Amino acid sequence: MSKFLSARFSGLEAYVPGEQPQDMQYVKLNTNESPFPPAPAVLEAVSAAEVSRLNLYPDPEGRALREALARHYEVKVENVFLANGSDELLNFFFMTFCDEERPVAFPEVSYGFYPVYANLYRLPFRAVPLRAEFRLEPEDYCGIGSNIVIANPNAPTGRIIGVNEIERIVRSNSDHVVLIDEAYIDFGGESCLPLVEKYDNLLVCQTFSKFRSLAGGRLGFAIGSPALIEDLDIIKYSTNSYNINRLTMAAAVATVESDEYYRENSRIIQSNRAYTVEALEKLGFETLPSMANFIFTRSSRVDGGRLYRTLKARGVLVRHWDKPSIADWCRVTIGSREQMDVFLAKVREILEEVG
Ligand SMILES: *Cc1c(COP(=O)(O)O)cnc(C)c1O
Repeated sequence: MSKFLSARFSGLEAYVPGEQPQDMQYVKLNTNESPFPPAPAVLEAVSAAEVSRLNLYPDPEGRALREALARHYEVKVENVFLANGSDELLNFFFMTFCDEERPVAFPEVSYGFYPVYANLYRLPFRAVPLRAEFRLEPEDYCGIGSNIVIANPNAPTGRIIGVNEIERIVRSNSDHVVLIDEAYIDFGGESCLPLVEKYDNLLVCQTFSKFRSLAGGRLGFAIGSPALIEDLDIIKYSTNSYNINRLTMAAAVATVESDEYYRENSRIIQSNRAYTVEALEKLGFETLPSMANFIFTRSSRVDGGRLYRTLKARGVLVRHWDKPSIADWCRVTIGSREQMDVFLAKVREILEEVG
């Protein structure tokens, strides 16, 4: 750290992304990417012709992509906001809607970026404990008197709550903005997007990084009332008006139009998820019910940290946190059947060795 860092940021703990080794030698089950490449139409969209236009700025309004998303989700273009990954969307949410008078609440075990943004903006925040077995109790958020961020399904647990429960939370907090982070909604869950029409305090965000095989393109979006979108636009145009680059924009339009390809991939992931959970159960693992493209699992025979380290030494990356409440557990991305078979074979080896 230099002596020039603004005092505002002293002591700030930055988010630590999952490991991204660049040598490709791991079976990579640690950051919930899709094992499938983008759809063929996406490869065609990022063409030499599009590259040859990189001397020109992209459309700051992202009109073509917002229209494609509006058609797809049956909302208006005015309901759609684009961000450079949903991480940027989260950043905009905290900057736009939260302050000393409007603090924020989120589950105590959830996406690690939420407290990072809250600390970045020096926001008072409440980390609401989950209930037994990492269950999220909607009642804990009803009339809480602050803005709310909930990942649904939650990460890293994979657990989901129903649309009717989201609705109770949104309805009982009509003076605050509720952000539902649906990064994993397309792996079997039901989206709360239809509620956007009814509630002007609901913002739903999704990402192209998981279900849509575009983590490297960096694209997230939010759908909410036109007034909320206008608010987000003020911050976007005050920080980075061209936040979506030309190649990602082209790739994303083709992505939205290739929905059936991604749905089929999701069906395969869901089937691999059931396969993996069952195989782990036979090995004595306890796994939380998951509606995401990952599972949260633990064994009474080998603790989470050791499992993570031993798997890594054998070429399989999973995610583990030292935080005491979840230190027993590992989060394992669901990949291709071949990847899951390698993972399971290594787990069997490790269990045999610990005896
Ligand atoms: C992966 C993830 C994100 C970030 O997605 P990007 O669009 O890649 O920035 C946001 N929220 C949750 C809960 C996630 O798991």
